[in-house]
Amino acid sequence: MDYYGKQISRLIEELAALPGVGAKTAQRLAFHIINMPEERAEGLSQAIIDARHNVCYCKTCQTLTDKEECPICSDETRNHKEIMVVENTRDLAAYEKTGKYNGVYHVLHGAISPMLGIGPNDIRIKELLIRLQGDVDEVIIATNSSLEGEATAMYLSKLIKPTGIKVTRIASGVPVGGDLEYIDEVTLLRALEGRMEL
Ligand code: ZN
Repeated sequence: MDYYGKQISRLIEELAALPGVGAKTAQRLAFHIINMPEERAEGLSQAIIDARHNVCYCKTCQTLTDKEECPICSDETRNHKEIMVVENTRDLAAYEKTGKYNGVYHVLHGAISPMLGIGPNDIRIKELLIRLQGDVDEVIIATNSSLEGEATAMYLSKLIKPTGIKVTRIASGVPVGGDLEYIDEVTLLRALEGRMEL
């Protein structure tokens, strides 16, 4: 039933399709947007369009950014010989928020999952291996402690160890199946400090 007329219903449908937004929240957001001053609503839609158009992958670490190389990779004060491998840009942000990690990152954009048919070639492992041909001391594997995250960690460690580069895995203080972005900073730091060589 179309209670609201086409335009409003369409807005509610689009919002409800976003992750974590149920039907009720979508309605609430839709009416909030409709009641905004027109220029604010236009600002919101323009922000979505701009982000979608301009965001790209960093040529080095593959994180989402709006430049050819992200601010972390282009920061010369960071230790470029230490690479932390994370599943996504949100995980990178979680570690950055701790303010205690001074190395650089590599974002895989996923994890190996035979169940979902995601293999090593479907995530950005190739790009990582190219980076490892440079001067790298340590690769810290900070994939989630889910089945997929562990499978990815095992795969990477087998691949990297023969190169002689030190491979470590963050400590399992991180709850099993826990998404890194939901874990508090203290737990993240403890996991990083307690990392073990693989
Ligand atoms: Zn980068």
